[in-house]
Amino acid sequence: MQRPIDKLIKFLDLQKINAPYADDFKMASGRVIDRGWYLLGEELESFEAQFADYVGAQFAIGVSNGFDALVLVLQAWGIKPGDEVIVPAHTFIATWLAVSELGATPIPVDVCPDTYCIDVNKIEGAINAKTKAIIPVHLYGQPADMQAILALSSKYGIPVLEDAAQAHGAKWFEHKVGSIGTATAFSFYPGKNLGALGDAGAVTTNDAQLAFRLKSLRNYGSIKKYQHDDLGRNCRMDELQAAFLKVKLPFLQKEIEARSRQIRIYESRLSGLAIRLPLIRENCTPVWHLYVVQCECRDDLQQFLFEQGIETLVHYPTPPHLQTAYHCLGYKVGDFPMAEQLARRVISLPIGSHLLDSDIEFICQKIALFFNGIVASSAWVSGRGS
Ligand SMILES: *Cc1c(COP(=O)(O)O)cnc(C)c1O
Repeated sequence: MQRPIDKLIKFLDLQKINAPYADDFKMASGRVIDRGWYLLGEELESFEAQFADYVGAQFAIGVSNGFDALVLVLQAWGIKPGDEVIVPAHTFIATWLAVSELGATPIPVDVCPDTYCIDVNKIEGAINAKTKAIIPVHLYGQPADMQAILALSSKYGIPVLEDAAQAHGAKWFEHKVGSIGTATAFSFYPGKNLGALGDAGAVTTNDAQLAFRLKSLRNYGSIKKYQHDDLGRNCRMDELQAAFLKVKLPFLQKEIEARSRQIRIYESRLSGLAIRLPLIRENCTPVWHLYVVQCECRDDLQQFLFEQGIETLVHYPTPPHLQTAYHCLGYKVGDFPMAEQLARRVISLPIGSHLLDSDIEFICQKIALFFNGIVASSAWVSGRGS
């Protein structure tokens, strides 16, 4: 039976997520309008200080979006045509495009099927004299294996740029991502766990020199008006977005906790079904931007849930190396088997503060109903991380 439309479980509901902040947003935008200062002002400066403090980094540099955060760091490091940058084969394509933006070549490394993050055992085989950076992605909100990646970084003298667009607040041991490596890129795209009301992003770093370069590069290569020391870009964060983000930042931890509680429901209700749940690596505290599970009959499950009024998404149906945009690199089906397998099997289940725990229970019941009609193949009967 179809769920009545008003009971539709949405994957994401930004109106509902942002509604509790509406009065504060109006006050914040009123402040900016009254002040009449729209770019590189005190809202941005105070947001940068607060975000750096939240992450535990010395510096945060607010920029226009997550993509530009990645590009600016690579540019500051002098990445140029002919250089190679190691990226995960399974990620949102922005990670790759940031490398291409500078004319350099993204070199994919396959991922681990349980954590979805770059397979650190395969990175070394991709390193050569042209390798100028490694970009691990803390995908879906779980930190990549930074211990191994930082070890490779110091062994080969290659800098690491973390893509934490989906991982605000995620922890690796006691440290939040953004405070660990040399530079970390964040996105505040509206649908991210800390989302603006438009585009915004940031870089965090403990490197004072890099912070200074980024402030210049984001503003036409200029720190002092009409004096241009760098071939910069225009990648500034609006004062309005900074003001909105300051409203939401104090509640990020609450959003993270709501999601963790929902994940515990999923884990307890879905274990034993023919569905593979994500493995949480030891010493990692993920933040669950997305709750991504795997199953062989993904498309049928998605269709079934849709008919029950439950909206799910696939992150992501086609890996970057098989996208038309990257035909130029000459990859073919079979080159990155884990990434390709994930593209066929992953499905993202609804989570977030727009949902009640009872919604998650309802979704779990429907998933169980779907699988009870199907004989589970033994390889896929799993608990967490089997
Ligand atoms: C969202 C995202 C980006 C890009 O962020 P924007 O703010 O949309 O430019 C980059 N990498 C990953 C992994 C993302 O999820």
